[in-house]
Amino acid sequence: MRSTTMQFQSRRLDTHAPGSPGRSSAGGLGDRVPPAPENPWARSLWLEGVVRDLTPREKLSGDHTCDVAIVGAGFGGLWTAYYLKAADPSLRVTVIEAEIAGFGAAGRNGGFVSAGIAGSGSRYARVSGWDSVLRAERETHHGVDEIGRVISAEHIDCGYNKEGALTLATTEPQAQRVRAKVEAKHGFGLRPEDIRFLTAEECADFVPGAAGVLAGCFTPHCARVDPARLARGLADACERLGVKIYEQSPAERVSPKVVQCRGGRVSADVVIRATESFTIRERGQRRGFLPLYSLMIATEPLSQEIWDELGWRDGLGIADMRHLYYYAQRTIDGRIALGGRGAPYRLTDPISPSNERDAGVFQRLCDTLRQAFPAASEARITHHWGGSLAVPRDWCMRTTFDRKTGLGFVGAFGGHGVVAANISGRTMRDLVLGHSTDLTSLPWVGYHTRNWEPEPIRFVASRLIAKTLDASDNYEDRTAKPAKRARLVQPFLPPS
Ligand SMILES: Cc1cc2nc3c(=O)[nH]c(=O)nc-3n(C[C@H](O)[C@H](O)[C@H](O)COP(=O)(O)OP(=O)(O)OC[C@H]3O[C@@H](n4cnc5c(N)ncnc54)[C@H](O)[C@@H]3O)c2cc1C
Repeated sequence: MRSTTMQFQSRRLDTHAPGSPGRSSAGGLGDRVPPAPENPWARSLWLEGVVRDLTPREKLSGDHTCDVAIVGAGFGGLWTAYYLKAADPSLRVTVIEAEIAGFGAAGRNGGFVSAGIAGSGSRYARVSGWDSVLRAERETHHGVDEIGRVISAEHIDCGYNKEGALTLATTEPQAQRVRAKVEAKHGFGLRPEDIRFLTAEECADFVPGAAGVLAGCFTPHCARVDPARLARGLADACERLGVKIYEQSPAERVSPKVVQCRGGRVSADVVIRATESFTIRERGQRRGFLPLYSLMIATEPLSQEIWDELGWRDGLGIADMRHLYYYAQRTIDGRIALGGRGAPYRLTDPISPSNERDAGVFQRLCDTLRQAFPAASEARITHHWGGSLAVPRDWCMRTTFDRKTGLGFVGAFGGHGVVAANISGRTMRDLVLGHSTDLTSLPWVGYHTRNWEPEPIRFVASRLIAKTLDASDNYEDRTAKPAKRARLVQPFLPPS
């Protein structure tokens, strides 16, 4: 998934109270926010789907010793554990998870196993040069296939299907941005086989049922998965290799050589933090990331007639090119799952279950789905959920390891963590084992990002950015001219 600009959401939140009938400008269905799941672990369509396997693993209790302790069982933590243990089976690797494996963004995301670097090519290039950025981009292409390889080798049943990703433009300014994006990618070394511009007719060859399309682009470097099945399957694969996973064991202090939890403690030569957006809960870390919520909806399973009308082949990811854009997948059980336009950043309680569902955002997503895919306009919306992304000040990811203290970090993935976490896991393996490889010289290794501005400056700025992006989309829809005001907020946004 492209790093999100759309998480900045400006609509008033009290327009539709959860559960109240909503306004559907396109479908007129009076969408209702679906009830929250009863099982507290089933925090997404995907987690609900694997609900039978969500019984938490053992909690940490007492003192333990191992070689590598990893805090957080999302993709960052699990891939690191998997590759370390696979490379050196003699290593004692322990993962400590506050809730259950896959509870965070890993088990809630859009399921785009998509290429593209997490962060700004020009920022990385300033530190490492453009060759290194091109190498990083190619590594993300490889990452899509590498994830597929492990899924197959470990028999993880998560619907991996690599059919590429389509980005659609429905206004002239969006079409200009698509063209500019493709030219920029070619400009630094990608080929038409990696990404290519499409006319409206060519887009219609991919998805004849998408409405109002003027142009688009296609990359083959993207697969679709059910992310919770992948995360839970990866946790199982780690255990088969001999990794010990403790769940419902929040770390209270992460420091060199020691992870202190309420019920116990793990001592280890190497301690890796993989807590992504939740990192801000730790003292002194609040300004390290902006915890931005991205929200999703899913339809009921659609009939074969509707899929035939849409002509949307299984495995193809679709997104658009609005400033507040959407991303959508065809799920393995035949629904459309569509996300974007996250709830606004909240000053108090920035990570909270109450941020995962938002009646205003829900309605916008419903409207978007019905406008973009008219054949599905009568479909019932059965699920609504969300999760938080870790957004660093410059949107650039990092993998860091201090050999002296044994402390490492994987994360800062923004909206790109599915592939980025896999690359980080392999990179952290090489760093911990002391191997100098192509991975350990990628531009985000040892990369440093400054903190966000103090509150309430950050809060006010994020609300203003949200308003600007929303207004820009409305202006472009109305006039078919590029909204100049969107440029004003570009320095705070991820690269497209
Ligand atoms: C709605 C949504 C859609 C997205 N769509 C896509 C997409 O299609 N493609 C893509 O590439 N990316 C997408 N992303 C981003 C992607 O999901 C994240 O970048 C990625 O999952 C983050 O890495 P992670 O899995 O390691 O983090 P998380 O899954 O957030 O893992 C962090 C883990 O650490 C645990 N933890 C936190 N604090 C502690 C503690 N103190 N002690 C112990 N454990 C702790 C948490 O419980 C959690 O399980 C999306 C994100 C969201 C929210």
